[in-house]
Amino acid sequence: MYDFESSVATYCRAFPADFATAQGSTLTDADGRAYLDFLAGCGSLNYGHNDPRLSEALVDYIQSGGPAMSLDLHTGAKQRFCETFRDVILTPRGMDYRMMFTGPTGTNAVEAAIKIARKATGRRTVLSFTNGFHGCTLGALALTGSGHHRGSGNPITDGVTRLPYEGYRGLGIDSADYIEALLDDPSGGLDAPAAFVLEVIQGEGGLNAATGRWLRRIESIARKHGALLIVDDIQAGCGRSGSFFSFEEMSVTPDMILLAKSLSGYGLPMAMVLLKPEIDVLSPGEHNGTFRGNCHGFVTGARALELFWRDGAFQQDLSGKIALLTADLTRIAQDYGLTCKGRGFMQGLAFADPEDALATRARCYDAGLIVECCGPHDEVLKLLPPLTASAEEITSACRIIAGAVQQTLNTQIDEVA
Ligand SMILES: *Cc1c(COP(=O)(O)O)cnc(C)c1O
Repeated sequence: MYDFESSVATYCRAFPADFATAQGSTLTDADGRAYLDFLAGCGSLNYGHNDPRLSEALVDYIQSGGPAMSLDLHTGAKQRFCETFRDVILTPRGMDYRMMFTGPTGTNAVEAAIKIARKATGRRTVLSFTNGFHGCTLGALALTGSGHHRGSGNPITDGVTRLPYEGYRGLGIDSADYIEALLDDPSGGLDAPAAFVLEVIQGEGGLNAATGRWLRRIESIARKHGALLIVDDIQAGCGRSGSFFSFEEMSVTPDMILLAKSLSGYGLPMAMVLLKPEIDVLSPGEHNGTFRGNCHGFVTGARALELFWRDGAFQQDLSGKIALLTADLTRIAQDYGLTCKGRGFMQGLAFADPEDALATRARCYDAGLIVECCGPHDEVLKLLPPLTASAEEITSACRIIAGAVQQTLNTQIDEVA
């Protein structure tokens, strides 16, 4: 920790190296030590660090004198991004959405979505879910489950009700039934909601993954009660679940989809709300911000869509690597009595004792692997490999994890004895 930096810094405490260079799945520190980066900017680096083709597109744009900053003025960079997103992502999926560029963080997209939902429905209450994470500005924080995060801001949670996510009280207990009953009951105590906001895979909240069945139930409850369905795909989107959006093939049509983290493909800050044309109700500047649409992010984002999503090859290759990761983690879980969580390239291992997850994280780091913990008690060791990680990198990361878990759980047995 630098002595001039605020105590609020977090990741650098668990991973204190001084990082000098980055390439693909690898971060290298100032002493030349290489680390496999399976944190990947918390899912902001789905295509790894500094893909040379993205670097080249960015350098070309800068050298050609393209504007770096343009508020929300029209630029060739923005036009190319929008056309590419439409042609590569929306049209092939039969999706009809407008693109709204918000301030460059995910949490700003969440703020925008809350405003749109409230204005479009004329209602105030927004429903979110246990263990959901939606960002740290005060509005988005109001939706977030974590008391640790909410504690800092005393957000005005008025107008937000948090409900049990699927499986919150154990698999087999269907929270959709409970939610529907609450809303159907005029004395249930819930005001008519403007929107449901949810993650299909809860990134910070412990890698809880919703089923298509539950999601369809929530969508139909939302429709029945005149509420919008907002999918926060900021972490699970851009391919992390195994498909571009986390809810593909689940037969739901969200009214809004929020993207940020890996949207620029290069780790540049950039966020977007996809919204159905009929709820495009904000007047010009009603949600404003200086940095709406990052030209450099448009350039790398468009190039990334071309490179990785124009045809099905990348996704197909990814599905093979997901199977490999799943098999490796399942084996570790079986060997050490842990629980596998999550799906796609967003999977992890839940420990009975959170201390063991944190100790495993530290051992992985010592062995050259950066992985974070998540969940309400930090009890889940969470893997967010770049989607471009090779099969060898996945195998070698899982080998490090297996060794770290073994050491951690053995140490504990020694301590008990
Ligand atoms: C990271 C994240 C956010 C907030 O994005 P920031 O860019 O950190 O503001 C919101 N929702 C989800 C699901 C996230 O993972």
